[in-house]
Amino acid sequence: MTHKMVYNFGKNVAFTPAAYAEPKNEEDILQLLKHYRGQPIRVVASRHAWSDAIRTDGLLISVKHLDHVRLNKVQESVRVGAGCQIKYLLQQLKSHGLTLPSVGLIDEQTVAGATATGTHGSGKNSLSHYILCVRVAHYDPNTGEPTISEIDASSDLQAARCSLGLLGVIVELEMKTRAVYRVQEHSQRHESLASILAAEKQYPLQQFFLMPWSWHWFGQHRLETNQLRSHTAGIFRMYWHLGIDWCLHLIIIMLTRFLRFRALVCGFYRFLLPLVIVRNWRVTDDSHRTLTMQHELFRHIEIEFFVTRPHLEGALDYVKYVIAFFGGSKLSGEVNTPIPGRYSGSYCHRYPICVRRILADDTLISMSSPIGDGNNEDWYSISLICYELPSRRAGFFGFGDFLASSMQSQFNARCHWGKYNPLDRDANERLYPQLKTFRETVRRFDSQSRFSNAWLREVLLTDAPSGE
Ligand SMILES: Cc1cc2nc3c(=O)[nH]c(=O)nc-3n(C[C@H](O)[C@H](O)[C@H](O)COP(=O)(O)OP(=O)(O)OC[C@H]3O[C@@H](n4cnc5c(N)ncnc54)[C@H](O)[C@@H]3O)c2cc1C
Repeated sequence: MTHKMVYNFGKNVAFTPAAYAEPKNEEDILQLLKHYRGQPIRVVASRHAWSDAIRTDGLLISVKHLDHVRLNKVQESVRVGAGCQIKYLLQQLKSHGLTLPSVGLIDEQTVAGATATGTHGSGKNSLSHYILCVRVAHYDPNTGEPTISEIDASSDLQAARCSLGLLGVIVELEMKTRAVYRVQEHSQRHESLASILAAEKQYPLQQFFLMPWSWHWFGQHRLETNQLRSHTAGIFRMYWHLGIDWCLHLIIIMLTRFLRFRALVCGFYRFLLPLVIVRNWRVTDDSHRTLTMQHELFRHIEIEFFVTRPHLEGALDYVKYVIAFFGGSKLSGEVNTPIPGRYSGSYCHRYPICVRRILADDTLISMSSPIGDGNNEDWYSISLICYELPSRRAGFFGFGDFLASSMQSQFNARCHWGKYNPLDRDANERLYPQLKTFRETVRRFDSQSRFSNAWLREVLLTDAPSGE
């Protein structure tokens, strides 16, 4: 057990917990809970969240040694240790001809870490939605003794699927699996959002990008297919790895950190990038390889908004307007929320804006949980990514704070729990109609509020008693 400074991937969260532990099994976890009774406890996984989700000044637990993978062929599911990395789980599943129904852009997270914040890809529900059962270590509300509960039904399961660690220490998850499948992909430039959205029926797994400063659209059109792996798939992967994961990102980092002139960014998106991106190269490959990339290669920070389809067009127009304003120029048109003049020129956005569709989850508070009244509309996420050095992100935070506050009021936009998330309690109260049920569940599993932290109490748990 050591005290050590803990940083997240984005280096925007740093803290020193009072104690840190890496238990080997469930029994060790129960012993830790006994030993640290009455003190705050949080769990850390791969540290990829940009929000304050892992922060604690009490005991920080990593369950990385709980990484077993046990197939249940009858249920078409897998029982997996909470600390298992998604890439390891996918590897194990693949050797049995299986995979997960949904993956995010990277596979570095652990299963418990990814699902705790509603991590998602494009064209499917979030990973949390596919959880069938959660085993969680917490304090028995009657005896106060550490215990393990198995949650596999009712609103408790909906809460446990995406719980931000608030129910206790998750030790094991059971997740749905499916047979491995292949995805065909090609990229195309579009002049309008309407044109890209029209392609969605044909390419349900697609994601697309709004290019900053050139304002054209670029679609990565994807669909599940029975076709065999393309002969050119290997070359395509190499092109993607060297050309996109490395070269494109190095250029954006140069334009962000060294050659900071806006004219260069504009020139890059207007003239250079369209020449470099290979269009209409149709490639079929394994779903895992196609749907993920190595976005973790270079340190960055991200804020991601979630809006329903009726708000998508307005939200994207607004984001475009705000990017231009913060970058020091003005687009034609009007916006509902006036932007204070001090923001003009305070931040230049330099990364393509990624848009993904997520189906409504059967959860209480994942970002793609239903908006209520039986309304199960699809969600669209809008990602804004910044490669500034951690010490030079003031502009990004001002931009993110302004967008979060104005977009929640205009478009009911939610913020990703595992990314930079400046939304306050009032906004969350309004945006998540099932928050009340979530809070009741948390109080039953953690009556003393031991598994929360200051941020989560402030923005989610309102009148929860203080435990830290
Ligand atoms: C490069 C990069 C790419 C990303 N791509 C995507 C993407 O495509 N889609 C997307 O939606 N998100 C994406 N994210 C966000 C990321 O998926 C989430 O932040 C996720 O929560 C990180 O998982 P982790 O394993 O690193 O967990 P951590 O960041 O360590 O923890 C996240 C949360 O999970 C809780 N937790 C972890 N394990 C347990 C446990 N055993 N019991 C209880 N609580 C637990 C922690 O307490 C914390 O609240 C990306 C992040 C990065 C850095």
